[in-house]
Amino acid sequence: MIEFKNVQKTYPNGTTALSNINLKIEQGEFVAVIGLSGAGKSTLIRCINRMHDITDGQLLVDHVDVSKLRGKQIRRFRRRIGMIFQSFNLVNRISVINNVLVSFVPDLSLWRKLTGIFTKEQKLLALEALDKVGILDKAYIRVDQLSGGQQQRVALARTLAQNPDIILADEPIASLDPVTSKIVMEDFKRINQTMKISVIMNIHHVEVALEYANRIIGVRAGEIVFDGAPAEVSKRV
Ligand code: ADP
Ligand code: ADP
Repeated sequence: MIEFKNVQKTYPNGTTALSNINLKIEQGEFVAVIGLSGAGKSTLIRCINRMHDITDGQLLVDHVDVSKLRGKQIRRFRRRIGMIFQSFNLVNRISVINNVLVSFVPDLSLWRKLTGIFTKEQKLLALEALDKVGILDKAYIRVDQLSGGQQQRVALARTLAQNPDIILADEPIASLDPVTSKIVMEDFKRINQTMKISVIMNIHHVEVALEYANRIIGVRAGEIVFDGAPAEVSKRV
C-alpha cells in the first residue's frame, strides 16, 4: 500500500509542484494520474520511489516512511518498484535480452564488465519476462532495431524481471501511435490483472486512462481535484 499524508514538494528553485496531497493506493490497483502539463503528475509519481524527495508530510510504502530510507535500503526498496519512462531508457546497440538482463546489474556503470556472466537462471527469467509481453521472438535482436511500441515492451519486460510489487509509468505511451499505444496498455492491464502488480501511470490521454485504469486521479496545480472510478469522471476534469 502507498500512502501520501499531507505531502508537499517544493523544488529548490521555489516551485511548489505538490501541495497537501492525501492519498491511499492499495496493492493491485491500476491508477491513472491525469491533468494538464505542469500539474504535478510526474512529481507525484517520482516521489514514490524517491527519484524526488518530498519536502513536507509523509509518504509510506507498506507502512515504511520512504524518506527515512538510506543507501542500501533505498536500492533494495527500488527493486520492488519498476519504473517506465516515455523515452524507454534502454541501452542502445545491445540485444533485447541483454537490456532485460540489465535489471540484474546492481549498478549500471558496471554493465560492461558484467556482461556475459549472467546465470542460466537469470537468462531464463529474462526470456520469461519477454514472453509475458509477447516479444520473446525478438530476444536476440538489437533493441534499437525495434519499433517504439516494441521498445516500450522491452522496458516493461526489464521491469518484470525484477519481480516488482509496483510499476510506476511516466507517460509510457506519449511517444507512441494510437495502435501501438493500445498494445502497450493491454500489456499493462494484463500484468496488473494476472500478476496483481500495482500500476500507477501518468497519462495525458484521458480516453485511454478511462478505458484501462480502475481509478482516476485528477491533478491540477499540485492538488488532487478528482479521485474516483472512470465512470465518475465528468467532462470538466
Ligand atoms: P506534469 O508531470 O503534470 O507535467 P511536473 O510534475 O513535471 O508536472 O511539474 C510540476 C511543476 O513543477 C511544474 O511547474 C514544473 O515546471 C515544476 N518542476 C518539475 N520538475 C522541476 C524541477 N526539477 N525543478 C523545478 N521545477 C520543476
Ligand atoms: P518529461 O516529459 O520526460 O517528464 P519534462 O520536460 O517534464 O520531461 O522534464 C524533464 C526534466 O526537467 C525532468 O527531470 C523535470 O524534473 C525537469 N524539469 C521540468 N520542469 C522544470 C523546471 N521548471 N525547472 C527545472 N527543471 C524542470
